[in-house]
Amino acid sequence: MAEVPAPPLKLRIDTDALAHNYRELDRLSGAAKAGAAVKANCYGLGVDQCVPTLRDAGAEIFYVAHWSEVAALAFHVPASSIRVLHGAGNAAEAAFAKAIGAVPVINSLHQAKIWTQVGGGLCDVMVDTGINRLGLSPPEVNDPILNNLDVDCLMSHLASADEDGEMNARQLAAFKDCITAIPHQRLSLANSAGVALGGDFAFDLTRPGLSLYGGIARPELKDVIRQVAFPEAAILQKRNIKAGESVGYNAEFAAACDMTIGVVSLGYADGFLRTWNLKGDGFLLHGETRLPLLGKVSMDMIVADFTNAPDLQEGDWVSLPYSLQNAAQQTALSQYELLTILGNRFER
Ligand SMILES: *Cc1c(COP(=O)(O)O)cnc(C)c1O
Repeated sequence: MAEVPAPPLKLRIDTDALAHNYRELDRLSGAAKAGAAVKANCYGLGVDQCVPTLRDAGAEIFYVAHWSEVAALAFHVPASSIRVLHGAGNAAEAAFAKAIGAVPVINSLHQAKIWTQVGGGLCDVMVDTGINRLGLSPPEVNDPILNNLDVDCLMSHLASADEDGEMNARQLAAFKDCITAIPHQRLSLANSAGVALGGDFAFDLTRPGLSLYGGIARPELKDVIRQVAFPEAAILQKRNIKAGESVGYNAEFAAACDMTIGVVSLGYADGFLRTWNLKGDGFLLHGETRLPLLGKVSMDMIVADFTNAPDLQEGDWVSLPYSLQNAAQQTALSQYELLTILGNRFER
C-alpha cells in the first residue's frame, strides 16, 4: 500500500506552553497539587501530544470522563493515576476498573453499591454542592454504604467559578459541610477558574482542564496562561474573480471589485463552524496579516480574500485565529467548544 499523504490540516501543539500552563496552575494552587483534566482527548488536542508533557511537568492525577478513554492514557501514565469521572455505573464498568486498575469517581449510592459488590478498592467520591450534575447530594453523604469505601479524594465541582457571585462561596460552604461525613485522604474542589479564586478553594488537589490548553477561565489568568493550540490549513487553490462575481453557497459574498481569493482546506466538518463568519467579519491569518473570510463556510472548504497577501500560493499554509478569548468573542462559542470541536482530520 502506498503511504497516505500528509493531510492539509495541522494542529500544532506548543508543548512548552502546555508545560508552562501546568506549572503556573500548580503554582497558583498554592499548597495544593494540580491534577490535569484530560477528558475528551485532552479537550480535543490529543492525548499522545499532551499527556506526556503534563506528566513530565509534574501532573500525577489525570481525569477522564469515560472508561473508553482509559486505554489511550494508560499508555503514558500509571492506571492508578487515572480517575474516571462518570464512575462505575454497572457491573461491566466496575469489572473493567478492577481489571485495568483505573480509579472510579463514585457519584451515587447506586455506584457505591456496585463498587462494593466487586470488592471495592481505591476510589474517589464526588458530592454535588449545587451544580446538580453528578455527585451524591448532601443528605446522602451520611449513608452507611459509604463507610465501606476506600476514598482517596473527596471532591465537588463548581458551577460558576468563572463568574463572581455568591454561588462560589455557597458551594464552598456546602463542600466543607460534607467533609467530615466521608473519610478520605484528600480534598478537591477547583477547576481552572476555581484555581484563580484563591487558596480557600484549593484544598489538596486542583483539577484544571481548560487553562492547561490555553483557555482564559478567568481574567486573572490572562497574563499567565499561554496559547497551546495552533491550527493551520493548506491553500488548495487561488483564483481571480471579477467585480460582481459571488463566492460560495447562496452567493452570500459578491465582489465589489476584481480580486484574488484563496480556497482553504478547512470547513465545518473540521470544527470551523459557520458562526465564524456569520457577521461577515471572520478572517484567517498569514502571519499578522488578516485574510477576510468570504461567504459561507462549506463542509471542507472556506474562501478568503488574498488581496493583502499576494505572495501566498497553492500549497502554502494559513493559520486560524485561535487565541481562545478572542475566538470565543468572534464566534459566540465557548473556549471549551472551540477546543473540543477541532475535527479529527487535523494532523496532531
Ligand atoms: C472537566 C472537569 C474539570 C476541569 O474543568 P475546567 O473548567 O476545564 O478547568 C474539573 N473537574 C471536573 C469534575 C470536570 O468534569
